[in-house]
Amino acid sequence: MTNETTAGAARRLLKRVFGFDAFRGAQEEIVVHVADGGDALVLMPTGGGKSVCYQVPALLRAGTAIVVSPLIALMQDQVESLNQLGVAAAFLNSSLDWPTVRQVEARALEGALDLLYMAPERLLTERGLDLVDRLDRSGRLALFAIDEAHCVSQWGHDFRPEYLQLSALHQRYPAVPRIALTATADAATRREILDRLGLGEARVFVSSFDRPNIRYTVVEKHNARRQLEDFLADRKGEAGIVYCLSRRKVEETAAWLVARGWDALPYHAGLDAATRAENQRRFLRDDGIVMVATIAFGMGIDKPDVRFVAHLDLPKSIEAYYQETGRAGRDGEPAEAWMAYGLQDLALQRARIEESEAEPRQKLLETQRLNTLLAYCEAPRCRRQVLLDYFGEASVPCGNCDVCLEPPQLWDGTVAAQKALSAIWRTGMRFGVGHLTDVLVGKATDKVRSWNHDALPTFGVGADLDEADWRGVFRQLAAAGLVQVALAEHGAVKLTEDARPVLKGERRVELRRVVTGRAKGRRGRAAAVADLAPADAGLFERLRAWRTDTARRQGVPAYVILHDRTLKTLAASRPRAAEDLAAIPGMGEAKIARYGEELLSMLNG
Ligand code: ADP
Ligand code: ZN
Repeated sequence: MTNETTAGAARRLLKRVFGFDAFRGAQEEIVVHVADGGDALVLMPTGGGKSVCYQVPALLRAGTAIVVSPLIALMQDQVESLNQLGVAAAFLNSSLDWPTVRQVEARALEGALDLLYMAPERLLTERGLDLVDRLDRSGRLALFAIDEAHCVSQWGHDFRPEYLQLSALHQRYPAVPRIALTATADAATRREILDRLGLGEARVFVSSFDRPNIRYTVVEKHNARRQLEDFLADRKGEAGIVYCLSRRKVEETAAWLVARGWDALPYHAGLDAATRAENQRRFLRDDGIVMVATIAFGMGIDKPDVRFVAHLDLPKSIEAYYQETGRAGRDGEPAEAWMAYGLQDLALQRARIEESEAEPRQKLLETQRLNTLLAYCEAPRCRRQVLLDYFGEASVPCGNCDVCLEPPQLWDGTVAAQKALSAIWRTGMRFGVGHLTDVLVGKATDKVRSWNHDALPTFGVGADLDEADWRGVFRQLAAAGLVQVALAEHGAVKLTEDARPVLKGERRVELRRVVTGRAKGRRGRAAAVADLAPADAGLFERLRAWRTDTARRQGVPAYVILHDRTLKTLAASRPRAAEDLAAIPGMGEAKIARYGEELLSMLNG
């Protein structure tokens, strides 16, 4: 590179090959640092744009970049995406037959590959290292990219023993730059990565973990299926994931959605491998599939256009919630994280911890994790702020979560709490929320009469609130630990020690209430086509149909052809000539050559 800076070359390459006008966030700094030979550790949230950070330096530097990735199932799609951009890339993993392996190796040795994806166990074989040695000796080893670098952490869920051996790369090829990438945020994992991969000299790039395009919403669960269907009704034709806790609930929910006319599929570890693979394949390749899944459906869901992630049950922790919701909107387009949560979920999770065989210390830890998550669910302030706070990041109210959009009413719930607690006490701590509410609002049902509860002093003292309000009161009292729900006793609500100061008037209770009337009108849709004019939306749909066909013919996922963002901009700006196509994000040289003519005829036909 004579007479120009690395940055200038990087920007031009980004435009020419990827069709992007500018780097995002720290991308440029990272690209320049690595292209100039530095080591880097990149912490960036899912969808932040990690791939560009090693793909651009791979193309700027002479020779082949080795990309280590644990996700064999995804390598093919990643390589396919690069091939569509006109980049020479290939992969080596256990899914290939021998002739193909030899062919890929030969291409690498000829210097015909810019990127070579390898599973770590493949790289670390004698044959793998021999290949890399030969590239190195001929000066054709561009860099090492170590993707999903948190797999080196023995404490994490994704630990891969082979990752520990990757530190050998440093000793063996000290002059070759390495870039490790992960979406895992916490400081302990970061230190472990630096330590175990021998990246002591590496520059660390930490991005904000905010996902501004994701809208967070938590609704109070009263009829989960109907609420889910209401949520989905605005999102026909969009791809999303619905997380449930149990396999049975996954099966039932998927079957129910299918019966209601949705394109839904189940996914959980109890399905046979072939069904799982087929369902995952369809989710990745077809448009608009709703995947109903347990958390077994997880790492490596690289699909950029997942428009929503819905939780019908509470996740395990706030980290788990962040990871799971993070699968929405990798492409940066508006996406939704929606959760329905109620008293039952809270009681179930508490019972799960209570009844587990874990050590008392472990139980305490799990209880704290649950409480943090409940605090998120019941938060009176911006949900994104609560999340980012948790990751140690300061922020301001986001304007893109339910709390910001429809601020809940905060009210002094001390008296209401006292009424609820005394209703529990006076009925002998043997009844569930439904019955207690009847007593409070003064509804003399048969059950209330048969227990003589209509004669209690508490009968009817809560008539100023409605049933939904009381449900909210009980749930919040449970979240705050003032009451407990005994699932083994048909959901009987009991007082805890902490209830005493409230009953004695020594402690105030602040409660929140969602004002549903306001909620309706402002719901609005954060979907991909929301901001298109009706005429353009029609064109967008036709472009999508074309993309589906094209992808089918080539046997690749639709997003590998073109992203939604690109189709949307095409529909809205209707370029007339080939030169205008280059201005559309995502239309690099290779894509224009391949699809330009077809697109122009559709746009101007
Ligand atoms: P990650 O691996 O961090 O989850 P990706 O590398 O898959 O993220 O990138 C997420 C999305 O952002 C992709 O759709 C990618 O094409 C897009 N993207 C990345 N960098 C840019 C950029 N500089 N300009 C526009 N889009 C980008
Ligand atoms: Zn907010």
